[in-house]
Amino acid sequence: MGERMKNMFDKILIANRGEIACRVIRTARRLGIRTVAVYSDADRGSLHVALADEAYRIGPAPAGESYLKAEAILEVAARSGAQAIHPGYGFLSENDSFAEACAAVGVVFIGPPPAAIRAMGSKSAAKRIMEGAQVPLVPGYHGEKQESDLLRREAEQIGFPVLIKASAGGGGKGMRAVLTLDDFDDALAAARREARASFGDDRVLLEKYLTKPRHVEIQVFADTHGNAVHLFERDCSIQRRHQKVLEEAPAPGMKPELRARMGEAAVAAARAIGYVGAGTVEFLLDEDGSFYFMEMNTRLQVEHPVTEMITGQDLVEWQLLVASGEPLPAGQEQLAICGHAIEARIYAEDPNREFLPSIGRLRHLRPPADSPHVRIDTGVRQEDEVSIYYDPMIAKLIVWDTDRNGALRRLRSALAEYQVVGVTTNTGFLASVAAHPAFVSGEFDTGFIERHRSDLFPSAMPAPGRTLALASLEILLRREEEAKGSAETSLDPYSPWHSVSGWRLNFDNHHTLYLLDGEEEIAITVHYRGDGYLLALPDGNLLVRGTLDNNGDILADLGGTRVKATVVRHGNTLTILEQGRVHTLTIHDPHACIGEDQGVDASLAAPMPGKVVAVLVNPGEKVEKGRPLMILEAMKMEHTITAPRDGLISSLNFTVGSLVSEGVELLAIVAEEGA
Ligand code: ADP
Repeated sequence: MGERMKNMFDKILIANRGEIACRVIRTARRLGIRTVAVYSDADRGSLHVALADEAYRIGPAPAGESYLKAEAILEVAARSGAQAIHPGYGFLSENDSFAEACAAVGVVFIGPPPAAIRAMGSKSAAKRIMEGAQVPLVPGYHGEKQESDLLRREAEQIGFPVLIKASAGGGGKGMRAVLTLDDFDDALAAARREARASFGDDRVLLEKYLTKPRHVEIQVFADTHGNAVHLFERDCSIQRRHQKVLEEAPAPGMKPELRARMGEAAVAAARAIGYVGAGTVEFLLDEDGSFYFMEMNTRLQVEHPVTEMITGQDLVEWQLLVASGEPLPAGQEQLAICGHAIEARIYAEDPNREFLPSIGRLRHLRPPADSPHVRIDTGVRQEDEVSIYYDPMIAKLIVWDTDRNGALRRLRSALAEYQVVGVTTNTGFLASVAAHPAFVSGEFDTGFIERHRSDLFPSAMPAPGRTLALASLEILLRREEEAKGSAETSLDPYSPWHSVSGWRLNFDNHHTLYLLDGEEEIAITVHYRGDGYLLALPDGNLLVRGTLDNNGDILADLGGTRVKATVVRHGNTLTILEQGRVHTLTIHDPHACIGEDQGVDASLAAPMPGKVVAVLVNPGEKVEKGRPLMILEAMKMEHTITAPRDGLISSLNFTVGSLVSEGVELLAIVAEEGA
């Protein structure tokens, strides 16, 4: 690029963490720009710190004391000599005071001018500006006046159903759909309460509630030389509680003529506020093809990779060019759509428990391989912890193919390959969405997940015979390995006593394995046969054999069917992963309980990082099995630690209010003297 890149930065600071920090570092490195990471105590050993050229601690784990501390970040910028700051998304990315503070100390904020951030910060004010720029708005009320009577009259005028939105809103908070006039007052009160609690601002606006809209947003870019373009649309209609789950580009069924009109409206919106850098203009697209401005996000979006995949552009590179004063690298007529891309947000969360975050250690993490068709943007590695402090996203899985059906196929197979053990994830849920006929047809709207709830949230099923067979095979193959190991160190390696084939002089050659599937105990009788193991499973007999490697990968023959699976062991727990199905079983031997008093009972260790909110026993107290001992709180959920057996409390290691990390011993129980 020679002359063109003459003002490019030598060193930038990334004021963020996780996948987006890693994402920005990747492009910076490709362009020969040095990178500075900042981190909280919880992120000392995290991937973004390892990838950056330099890294500086900015404070304790809570974001309010680290990633949101503008002064601490600016101090690192000064110390490290970074010329610019990339804010990523979230945290300080849409904070106009931070953008101003950067300018004040001569550091470039890689984002729009503070005034543009401010203009879009309030949904109501943004709408008034867009109205002036002839950008279509959802019919509604976005005035300053907030008297309840006036709002009710306005709602009647708009016609029900009506949507009440917090003017300062984000993340779907402070939003209430109202179906009839009778419900209006209660809904208004609730929306105001939520808005006040979340944003410290209870002003609201009213909109006509569209019953089957699609969420279609346009990626825009503008430079400091007066150029502005759009990079087409993304469809983000697959949402749960107004939050995006899957995003794709282009939008299924989008006509070129409508795309051009929406693109022009978005560019007009950007121009209306003197926009510079990357931005997204969000629209609702109604069934009849009308579209309405919703809001503008003045940063790089989580879902920007789908746009990169279909345009072949690197949007972080564009941001860096624009921030260093260069013109946009392409004009509108040079941009084109090639193929189809879909992004799935892989989260540590439990879809069957209202998507509650699932925190803990990533004991096993094996994503599908990167390729021109599959891109993984992540900020975590195996053994990292998903903590209570930040968003529990594990990765973004982005797939690309020449058309939508191809991309869907890639998505389904990549989801099936994605292996995560240690936390619950939404991969199974995403896979059911990706396979659902209504999604595959491309004819869906923002109500998709609600409407198809019963198809998408399969209830927990007992482990099928195939899973039990794989678990048994793992146990048996591992025992075979161990026996071989001990035979090699023995004086007579050929002694039949080392054999685990069940060969015993005059004894019946079978053995029983006990597995727990939840509460259910399953006994599996194993008959040792020359050609494998014959398992007596609940649903019939099955002859199995196979090989196991050190990574837990099993190549099995289950009654003549070849199966590839992975079995991950942690203590007595076996997690069986096969074709996207994940099942956890516990090895349970009812005869192996004698002498288990030594060591820490697993059930007395903190199952997750959290805070002790109640201690229900005293040192020396006698407790019986099942008695609640301590209550931990993590992610607003309470978890009760109960006595695994009868005994005396020998030590209490924490008091109310203590913060504990996963796996630490919370208290100890000893057997009662003479018992
Ligand atoms: P937030 O900033 O809280 O995310 P948005 O205004 O961006 O809120 O809206 C989030 C989602 O809520 C949209 O993607 C859409 O699914 C739904 N939504 C917003 N406004 C309307 C409306 N007027 N009618 C129907 N659905 C809407």
